[in-house]
Amino acid sequence: MKSKELKIFAVFGNPIAHSLSPLMHLAALDRMGIPARYVPFCVTDLQKAVEGIRGLNIAGVSITLPFKSSILPYLDETDEKARQMGAVNTVWNDQGVLKGYNTDWLGFVLSLKEHLDIQGKRFAVIGAGGAARAAVFGLIQEGGRPFILNRTPEKAQALAQAFGCPFFPWSQITEIEAEVLVNTTPVGMSPQREASPFPKELLRRFPWVVDIIYNPLKTRLLREAEESGCRTIDGLGMFVHQGAEQLKIWTGMEPPRPFMGEVVRNHLLSLEEMNPPREEDQTL
Ligand code: NAP
Repeated sequence: MKSKELKIFAVFGNPIAHSLSPLMHLAALDRMGIPARYVPFCVTDLQKAVEGIRGLNIAGVSITLPFKSSILPYLDETDEKARQMGAVNTVWNDQGVLKGYNTDWLGFVLSLKEHLDIQGKRFAVIGAGGAARAAVFGLIQEGGRPFILNRTPEKAQALAQAFGCPFFPWSQITEIEAEVLVNTTPVGMSPQREASPFPKELLRRFPWVVDIIYNPLKTRLLREAEESGCRTIDGLGMFVHQGAEQLKIWTGMEPPRPFMGEVVRNHLLSLEEMNPPREEDQTL
């Protein structure tokens, strides 16, 4: 996409004010030498917003909560993997044809593969929402063996059935064993910033603990996992890789991933300096 013409990109969500995608994508596009704007839209009418992509000649759009599933009927084409997942987080306006993709699962897989081999390992995935769906889908693609634990057993069961993997009721957490524990719930980010989704006394049985939350970078779960001797992976890598894969679809160019990580990490660290964690908060 090396061209001097100004390109417009966007992110659609509701709410959208706290998204770090504009910060990361603009820094990357600038580094890639692409004159661009990346605009956050708090969408109130999804169908009209999607029509606007064509009407305004927006080159690419990131899709975030709560529109990842509801956008599918409004697109012209959906990539096979996004269709299997039932969720789109990326729209590419390919000369007026709106094409949907999902890069969340790939972002998750690429961030894990920087640290460990997925093939053959057992993963205990906590949560059964959209992020769990991306994580479980990605793990299965890479030969991992995920199982699901969730507060609401019916949702765990539905996700497990969709992908043909086991699930366990929360009451059995003292019995589960896996090489990797993965938190995909929002427990650990604002407003539950000082809560943990998993009891500290059970963490030592997992060699690896992954939290897909990236704000804060070090959640209570990851702090307690380190104290228990586990190796840890935070959610920044997933965020960077899912965004980098979006830029790759839109521009055909390889984005500067380490630089993108640095930009977001520096921003998050400055936020944490302003809002340090409190010791007295409780584990859920
Ligand atoms: P979601 O669809 O709303 O699902 C949330 C899941 O967490 C549900 O299964 C819910 O359980 C569970 N949960 C919520 N509050 C809980 C609590 N207090 N105790 C126990 N379980 C609880 O949300 P999502 O889209 O999956 O997003 C989840 C997190 O992933 C967010 O923090 C988001 O920022 C993060 N995320 C990170 C990235 C990244 O790039 N790193 C990408 C996507 C998402 P029930 O089924 O019982 O309601």
